[in-house]
Amino acid sequence: MENKILVTRSSMPPYEEYIEAIRPLWESRWLTNMGKYHQELEEKLKEYLDVPQLSLMVNGHLALEMAIQAFRFPEGAEVITTPFTFISSTHAIVRNHLKPVFCDVKPEDGTIDESKIEELITEHTVAIVPVHVYGNVCNVEAIQEIADKYDLKVIYDAAHAFGVKYKGKGIGNYGDASVFSFHATKVYNTIEGGAVAFSERRIYDRLYNLKNFGIRGEELVTEVGANAKMNEFAAIMGLCNLKRVEEVLKARQKKYDLYINKLEKVDGIRFFQRKKEAGNNYAYFPILVEGDYILDRNELYDKLKESGIFARKYFYPLTSDQACFKNQYRNVQLKTARKLSSQVLVLPLYEELNESEVIQICENIRR
Ligand SMILES: *Cc1c(COP(=O)(O)O)cnc(C)c1O
Repeated sequence: MENKILVTRSSMPPYEEYIEAIRPLWESRWLTNMGKYHQELEEKLKEYLDVPQLSLMVNGHLALEMAIQAFRFPEGAEVITTPFTFISSTHAIVRNHLKPVFCDVKPEDGTIDESKIEELITEHTVAIVPVHVYGNVCNVEAIQEIADKYDLKVIYDAAHAFGVKYKGKGIGNYGDASVFSFHATKVYNTIEGGAVAFSERRIYDRLYNLKNFGIRGEELVTEVGANAKMNEFAAIMGLCNLKRVEEVLKARQKKYDLYINKLEKVDGIRFFQRKKEAGNNYAYFPILVEGDYILDRNELYDKLKESGIFARKYFYPLTSDQACFKNQYRNVQLKTARKLSSQVLVLPLYEELNESEVIQICENIRR
């Protein structure tokens, strides 16, 4: 087997830069608890993501759990969401003692099918949790219209959409809250980390309580909170990586464009469409392996693996089909989601991937 190509590889700053940047911590001994670097990163990310308010968290999953919790929905209420996502999206709903109602997605971009949301709304529905899957922007206008009509909250899982702009605005400006992940495998990382973007100031206070035990003073605890604070080492990694993020995106774009160029004429290989007014953060390169292709998705996955190319079946199975959720919630027709899930394959894409490796991957697919 030739050298292995994995689906992703974390972007990191130069070693010396990070080491220099963490040196002050040996003086201050302030390693966590909303320290200096936590504050600095929160401010800088607010600016970069172009959002009015931001709360940093220890990871994207807890950011999503707490974003949902901050709205204090009644136990057992229903939340309309997509099954074509990472398991975290559904876990965050269920761990809040809410019921996911899975809605089908659209074939062109894999995001929630807004035309099917309304028929799923009942008197128990309180929120919609859509996902900007692969950074593909949901139909935020139509979703907001439905939410306004039925008085629902919209909490976006924007874990894939770091830095994506839509109609000139940061993606985190849409809905009542948007959640980002800064996990090591994402386009921008703080090793582990995440954030909630929102506009209402009272959400900031609620999230602060939820991520810091509800502690409001030396002798005062006002709320039952957890611990989801980002530490200073992570915040410093975030500050270093933020300086390089444009460079990282450019490097990814090169490979992304090369993939399109080499694969667009291959019969049976289809790409997701992106909205015209939406930016791209080149976070993933998903392809759909359709009937005209000589192999099915699983066969292509296996063939690539034999050549040392480790693509991933993101997202298969649907979260609604996972053992922990199967047959437990309302049975909704998920025809498109199921089809995409059986056809999708995410190809390797990261800053340091060589163009020759992209060509090698594409040649394997064309063969
Ligand atoms: C990565 C991811 C999360 C969770 O983020 P972590 O930072 O890994 O906890 C949530 N939703 C989606 C869609 C993700 O891809």
